Amino acid sequence: MSDWSKVTRPIPVPNEWTKPFWDAAKQEVLALQRCQSCGHLQHPPYPTCTQCMGIDLKFEPVEGKGKIYAYTIMYHTGDKRFAPAVPYASIIVELDAAPGALLAGNLLDAPYTEAKVGRPVEVVFQKLNDDITLPQFRLAR
Ligand SMILES: [Zn+2]
Repeated sequence: MSDWSKVTRPIPVPNEWTKPFWDAAKQEVLALQRCQSCGHLQHPPYPTCTQCMGIDLKFEPVEGKGKIYAYTIMYHTGDKRFAPAVPYASIIVELDAAPGALLAGNLLDAPYTEAKVGRPVEVVFQKLNDDITLPQFRLAR
């Protein structure tokens, strides 16, 4: 199983659109943009609603349960910082609460062979430093 404790990963840099997402993650809350005009939840954050082009968007907490939408197994280390984790699963998760909203992460606490399309997963929070906590996923319990 991948040893993520020895991986020093690149740290995401929040911007004006993603800062509320990262601020919530730091509190171990998964928060997505909801369009105040049509109610659509979307991720990643955009300046406008991808459904109605509305610009009144607010972040709100959502339940961190979903299913693996796609995955890839990383066998090589283009970035040597990930060497202790190889091979590992990079997954795309579609949240049950937000169909169409796709989050990228890793499948933690499971062998990479457990990554399968459609498998239920739940969010876990991996603190990277005092500013950034990364939403990640494990198999749903
Ligand atoms: Zn909308």
